Amino acid sequence: MPDVVVVGGGPVGACAATLLAQAGLSVTLLEPQPVAAPEAGAATDSRVVALSRASERILRSAGAWPGLAGSRVAAYERMRVWHERVAPFSEGALLFDAADAGEPNLGYILESRLLQWALLDAFRRAGGRLEPLAFAGLERGADALTVRTSGPPLTARLLLGADGARSAVREAAGLPAEVSAYRQRALVANVATARAHELTAWQRFLRDGTLAFLPLADGHSSIVWSVDEPRARQLLALSEGEFAAALDAASDLALGNITLVSERRDFELLRLHAPHYVSERIALLGDAAHVVHPLAGQGVNLGLLDAAALAEGVAQAVRRREDPGSLGVLRGYERWRKSEVALMAGAIEAFDRLLAHGTGPVARLAQGGLALVNRHEELRRLFIRRALGVTGELPRAAR
Ligand SMILES: Cc1cc2nc3c(=O)[nH]c(=O)nc-3n(C[C@H](O)[C@H](O)[C@H](O)COP(=O)(O)OP(=O)(O)OC[C@H]3O[C@@H](n4cnc5c(N)ncnc54)[C@H](O)[C@@H]3O)c2cc1C
Repeated sequence: MPDVVVVGGGPVGACAATLLAQAGLSVTLLEPQPVAAPEAGAATDSRVVALSRASERILRSAGAWPGLAGSRVAAYERMRVWHERVAPFSEGALLFDAADAGEPNLGYILESRLLQWALLDAFRRAGGRLEPLAFAGLERGADALTVRTSGPPLTARLLLGADGARSAVREAAGLPAEVSAYRQRALVANVATARAHELTAWQRFLRDGTLAFLPLADGHSSIVWSVDEPRARQLLALSEGEFAAALDAASDLALGNITLVSERRDFELLRLHAPHYVSERIALLGDAAHVVHPLAGQGVNLGLLDAAALAEGVAQAVRRREDPGSLGVLRGYERWRKSEVALMAGAIEAFDRLLAHGTGPVARLAQGGLALVNRHEELRRLFIRRALGVTGELPRAAR
């Protein structure tokens, strides 16, 4: 019997599975979708993620970093953030520079599928068993769970649900989730810009959403443009040339004229919070437990911290010869991560309400406040440490 069954081989499930396998547990990971490494020379996929320093450290601990270091990963050094009320290169824009905090960079931009592949590869190397099966239900026993799948059933002492926002594990475990739609969509595409991105992540808060340009290793940038649903439909209906012109206007030409170099994709934006991450022998991680707005690029970063915190608690329990699926062990994980996630989710909500959609006096204060942060070195350093993900109570793998 495997000690642990992990459902979902996305970045979070694959990371948790790898760290647990490295700790000597027998782990089976269920992921029905095939995942292949991007072919050398292939165009950059348009679904990319920004990873923090804390995530980099976790990936190093998991042995996945060597699979990532290479020509498809951009280390970004600066971040420029401004509200549409001010010009991008004015005093009112906020500039974070890694050098100001004595850091080589602020993090990394890479394709989601490359990250997933590197982690699954690390999992195999750590001796884990990857099964192309889907989770289909569970039955609780006294000392173990029976996990029904699209293939043969499995028994396990601990079941991890890392199967994303629409988690079937969460549902089967009877763990409720509070879900609400932002009524926004994120439009995603890769673009060429007339000006070089200078390894800078650019973000403009607009009255009707946010527009980010993430620098890619191939010299292009990945846009994440969050807008209300009617505007999203309108933008998706435009021709490529019209869409590029709309981007020119929305970016205030901070990077010069824009040309699309990939297809456009769109994602529904959800706000999801599970009041309980655990029950006896079951724990939720990543998007299965919490989904935040992508404007701060924190979803995977939060999920990798979940994975590291959970693996640390479970490995400790096994060393003490405790049952890794016991509620006491899992509650420790829940207490730790729920409070950290709540802090980050609250900050992201405030950014969305005040900077992206705010119109009242408090919003105007916050919009003008970007310049204030700029002028205070200490405050700027604090923001940089937040962006690096090195604040709060970190699992050992992230320190
Ligand atoms: C537009 C956009 C931009 C984003 N940018 C960033 C960013 O810059 N930085 C960042 O940190 N985050 C970002 N995020 C958030 C990030 O993509 C998610 O937080 C992250 O993918 C969550 O990872 P996960 O492993 O928890 O879930 P997922 O990535 O959703 O993976 C879940 C896995 O479970 C599998 N699965 C589902 N059902 C079953 C089943 N029944 N049985 C077995 N397996 C199953 C799926 O096949 C999938 O592989 C962004 C999100 C969006 C929408």
